[in-house]
Amino acid sequence: MAKKVLFKDCKFLYTSPVLGGMKTGLSILIEGKKIIDIAPFTELKSKYGRQVDDCDIIDASNKIVMPGLFDAHNHLCNTHMNLSRAFGINYDSVNDHMFTTVHDPYGWHTEESLFDVSLLSALNDIKHGATTIENSTILPDAAHKAMKKSGCRGILAPQMATSFQLDNERLNWKEYLTQAERCIKEYHNPEEKMSVAVHIHDQWDTLEEVMIRGMEMAEEYDVKYVTHFWEFPDSTRKADLEFESEGGAFLHYLNKGLINDRCVFFHGSMLSEHEIDMLSETGASVIHNPDINGTNCGNCAYIPYMLDKGVNVGIGSDYGSLDALTSMKLALLVHNIQDRPLKGIKGYQAFYAATMGGAKAYGMDEETGSIEVGKKADIVTIDLTKASHLAPMATSAIPYAEEILMFLFVRNCAGTETCETMIDGEFIRRDGNFTQIDEEEILRKANLWFEKFIPDLAQQRKAGKHYATKIHEDYLKDSEVDLQSLL
Ligand SMILES: [Zn+2]
Repeated sequence: MAKKVLFKDCKFLYTSPVLGGMKTGLSILIEGKKIIDIAPFTELKSKYGRQVDDCDIIDASNKIVMPGLFDAHNHLCNTHMNLSRAFGINYDSVNDHMFTTVHDPYGWHTEESLFDVSLLSALNDIKHGATTIENSTILPDAAHKAMKKSGCRGILAPQMATSFQLDNERLNWKEYLTQAERCIKEYHNPEEKMSVAVHIHDQWDTLEEVMIRGMEMAEEYDVKYVTHFWEFPDSTRKADLEFESEGGAFLHYLNKGLINDRCVFFHGSMLSEHEIDMLSETGASVIHNPDINGTNCGNCAYIPYMLDKGVNVGIGSDYGSLDALTSMKLALLVHNIQDRPLKGIKGYQAFYAATMGGAKAYGMDEETGSIEVGKKADIVTIDLTKASHLAPMATSAIPYAEEILMFLFVRNCAGTETCETMIDGEFIRRDGNFTQIDEEEILRKANLWFEKFIPDLAQQRKAGKHYATKIHEDYLKDSEVDLQSLL
């Protein structure tokens, strides 16, 4: 039987991500996948006797010990997409932007390149605090393999769209639905760290029949329904025009049953206050991606208002810096510099969003998102002997200034590498290194693909070609197309 694990004498222990959750001097006992006790070491010693001495002991007397973060929206295979910006970006027409800077990098992948890039991206995310990663992706079998290999707790979201076909995934709308259902049947196993979500890429590029059937599938299998929802002004404007007679696109989708507590919406950048009011009644979650919002056209969700209205918010890195800690830091800071009546969020709100917010969004808050007895052991540590950037974290300040300490931690944490990462009671990282995989080799392989991508894309462009084909116009109503003709 595997040894119990003890995180001994935690200098800082972040238990629940709320005020009062920051402790010092406690130890955590793990058995199998779960946290079985949290108490001062002397108490554990008198309670468990010799069992405590036989534990695998992590000396945490100079460490921050905290729940693993949720990177609640990502595209792990798209790290190279950041390079395709070299060929120009047109946010005034999101559809042009998608075709040239999003579909091309997607469609360029082979199963092998997608595996290597996804694995590298997952490792980087884990290294920077993530233990759970949502992965909106194409080629879901290779993506699943990479997620499993990384050791993360995963949410696999095979992308569905109808207005284009990628060269490497030539599926029509029915085949996409079949693929999504197959992935749920084969891979959805939360007990073994993997969930599958029904994923509509976006509203403008997917016919409503697929959205409705997708929602029915999500209900049938009791999984989440995830989609990009209002990231760009151009798409919001066009969608509102399309459904003008119904009072706009939000109301249209609400009335169609496509906005409910099963939904996890990525970005929410363009949601108005009125729409946020309506959203807050539905129980849907929003995943805030400040890293990629700042990289792209700078639309930023009105998160302070959402929190005020009780909307559950998680944080994602999207395909940005792939650093969950940096995403949390950005979420803390960007709302202070938005020209809006409600400004700023607190350190604890950012930390909550990056932990329990993500966990709630994906229905995992009973199991993960905090360090509590009975929960799964998804725990990360930060070695304070090597973290001069986290100064002045002082345990003596906890009774006086816990909120300030959490603010300082979140503000300063970007780029920190974890010392230990434990997922489901198993060490993925220890003493600052991955325990089960050769990170350098994975980086070497991924770099070969990154070197190849831009020359390939340049050649394709020179020949006037893309790695994707247009199937129908975007922003099309189902009544404007013969669905059977697309099969
Ligand atoms: Zn995205």
